[in-house]
Amino acid sequence: MGAKYLLGNLTVVTGAAAGRGCIAVSGEHISGVWIEDGEGRVRYGGEDIPLPALAARFSTDNPDAEILDFAGMYAFAGGIDAHVHFREPGMTGKADMESESLAAVLGGVTSYIDMPNTNPPTVTARRLSEKLAMAEGRSWGNYGFHLGATNSNLDEINDILDGKGLIGPDSFGGIKVFMGSSTGNMLVDDESTLSSLFRIRRKEILVHSEDEGIIRRNMQAAADRYGEDIPFSEHVSIRSRQACIRSTIKALELAMKYGTRLHVLHVSTKEEVEMIRAAKALNPDITAETSANYLWFCADDYDRMGSHLKCNPSVKTAEDRAALRAALGSGLIDTIGSDHAPHLAEEKDRKYMCAPSGLPSIRQTLPVLLTIASEEEIPLTRIASVFSEKAAAMFGIRDRGVLREGSKADIVIVSPEEQTITNTESGYRCGWTPYEGAVLKWSVKEVLVNGCRRVTGGKVTGCPNGQRLSFDR
Ligand SMILES: [Zn+2]
Repeated sequence: MGAKYLLGNLTVVTGAAAGRGCIAVSGEHISGVWIEDGEGRVRYGGEDIPLPALAARFSTDNPDAEILDFAGMYAFAGGIDAHVHFREPGMTGKADMESESLAAVLGGVTSYIDMPNTNPPTVTARRLSEKLAMAEGRSWGNYGFHLGATNSNLDEINDILDGKGLIGPDSFGGIKVFMGSSTGNMLVDDESTLSSLFRIRRKEILVHSEDEGIIRRNMQAAADRYGEDIPFSEHVSIRSRQACIRSTIKALELAMKYGTRLHVLHVSTKEEVEMIRAAKALNPDITAETSANYLWFCADDYDRMGSHLKCNPSVKTAEDRAALRAALGSGLIDTIGSDHAPHLAEEKDRKYMCAPSGLPSIRQTLPVLLTIASEEEIPLTRIASVFSEKAAAMFGIRDRGVLREGSKADIVIVSPEEQTITNTESGYRCGWTPYEGAVLKWSVKEVLVNGCRRVTGGKVTGCPNGQRLSFDR
């Protein structure tokens, strides 16, 4: 089949290299990636030619191909966000797969893996197949789901892993374990269940790591002191660093003991960064995620933002943020998950105890990451790695997440054009974002999903064509 597009005159960024080049798309796939060498040449048709000559040669060989010029722009593989809460089923007043996958694609996130704390929760093969059916034909991005662990569904999980379930192990991303508490009561606090879960070597064990006992005590102390009017700035004392540290110590110890593929979600403290660094030396399958929220905001922002920054774990100090940015630059952070977790504005308007935790942010992830990369001089290759490549490798998504010949053509093209974020244009059903007013240095201009242009000039076009993700692990 002849190519349909040549994305030209841009900088191609992968986890391994960044340089001026072109990308060819045929059907649903990437059919060529060229990055110029030190002498400004690329290999085409068996010979080395100057990069500017490639478009003409390509056009001759592919007369039907459209040559698209993206002068001054940068191409990355479309994002794989392994940490989203799209609220379907059960909470579709806040968001659903269609609304939030569109916001995701507008932000360059072309694949997502949704968390299991929906209603009903995704804790059985049946619930997981129901969710897969719900996404079919409605999702703008490629979709997958994590399975949730509870104190009582270990047999069900093992049946799926052993191929005895309604669905096979390739049908889900990883196993989510709430070691603390969060939305939806899926807390695993039974020690023998926890050990059994950490013995599963095949799949990623994704851990929300906050110690429930510490949080309860802190909450009681705040309620005793403030009554109903707990200031939002107390969130960082209630969901304290000690709660994160104690729980992460436990998770890391189990993962080192059993060789678990542990993925520590939304790391928020400098202590956890250091602990994870040490633990990785013993078990290289331990990985770390943080979200843009922890890289962008800090605890000082609670006074200004109130519930609009209430998320679990809490956003910590400026020092923690600096440590996380350094960990992003050094490669210690493996993936960035948005932890996109929409709530309605009127729900967020409630007092501390009743205002739900969670922030809608998926469309801002890439522009925020790139802005931080500019500020901290973090190489763009690192951003390519945390935004898509590493997640593809960890979850066994073999055909996506990297700009490579043969991969599915999920591509995002960004421009170094400043934008100011507004609630009205956020694209979320809930109609707000904590990034309102933020000035970001980069904008998403063009997005391809499975070879189809779904965003052009920053605006959506066409209809949903997301495909089901397959997890080859
Ligand atoms: Zn989450």
